[in-house]
This record gives sequence, C-alpha cells and structure tokens, in this order.
Amino acid sequence: MLINLTELLSNVGYTKTFQTDILLNVYESNIGTYDIVDKQPLELIITNIAKNKLTISGEVDLTFNIPCDRCLEDVKTNIRFSIEKSIDMSDDVSDEVKELEEQDYINGYNLDVDKLVYDEILINFPSKTICKEACKGLCMKCGANLNISECNCDRHVLDPRMAAIQDIYNNYKEV
Ligand SMILES: [Zn+2]
Ligand SMILES: [Zn+2]
Repeated sequence: MLINLTELLSNVGYTKTFQTDILLNVYESNIGTYDIVDKQPLELIITNIAKNKLTISGEVDLTFNIPCDRCLEDVKTNIRFSIEKSIDMSDDVSDEVKELEEQDYINGYNLDVDKLVYDEILINFPSKTICKEACKGLCMKCGANLNISECNCDRHVLDPRMAAIQDIYNNYKEV
C-alpha cells in the first residue's frame, strides 16, 4: 500500500489520518519465515511539521505463527508496537544521509506502508517463543513431541554418536 505524500508536503501544519491495510501475509527475513495469521488495519497519522518535514505515527497489531523454541509447534503470537518516524524530504538532504537513515520506505513522494512496517517487525520480534512454560520439547532420539505422548526411548543412555553431541552441548553450557 502506497500513500501519496504530495498534498501533505505542500501544506505546513497539515495533519491527515490514513486507514490502511497491511498487505504482508508472510514475514521473511534472515531470522526466518513466519506466517502472519491476523492483522488489524493500521491507522497512520502523518503531520507536516515544517517545510519538507513530516512525522508519521501509528500502532501496528499483527499476529504471527512462531514455532515454539522447544517443540517447534506454531504459537500464535501477537506483536504490537508503535511507529514514530520523522522524515526530511528536502532536496538538499543528500542521498548519503537518506541512505544512513534507511528511509527505504519513502519512494519518491510515496510512503510504502508495508516496507515501513516490515522494517519495524525485526526490532519488535520476540527473542524467545515457547508454547507454555512447562513445554517438554522434543525427544532428542526419535523427535517425538513429548507434550503429546511419551516415547519409549531411554533418553539417559544415549548411543555413542548422540553422547558426543550431548558432551558438546554440556561443554557449551559450562562456558
Ligand atoms: Zn512447545
Ligand atoms: Zn523418543
């Protein structure tokens, strides 16, 4: 979704509220790929605070399917955050500065709402996701989800290959 900023830019002091839909259905980044399963329309308030200077604010409300860190089952995770941006669209701001500020969501005189939201998701993404505090995770031997059923594996006596992995894991924990 693109918002044309021309009208706002030509009226200092002018404020306009936009109701827009976020078109993103999947969030793909270097941390993984996650389905967006629910989203609220985004209300963006854009204000012209001075010649060629705009502020953008809004509240994002998205729900993602994020796999549990232990059992890998999808966990519906609601992520809400505020967007507060000020942008300078003066021609005398050099391209270098614009690049530093990473205003890739401004395209000519258009605001690319999805790009703006996309950039903010990473900053607000949870670092840890578990389905429940008591999640038992997966069996290290057969991969069974131990929340659903106990497998018959003896997880204390590991075969030599698994024992080696266990050693590495234990050493790692001690560091
Ligand atoms: Zn889990
Ligand atoms: Zn097992």
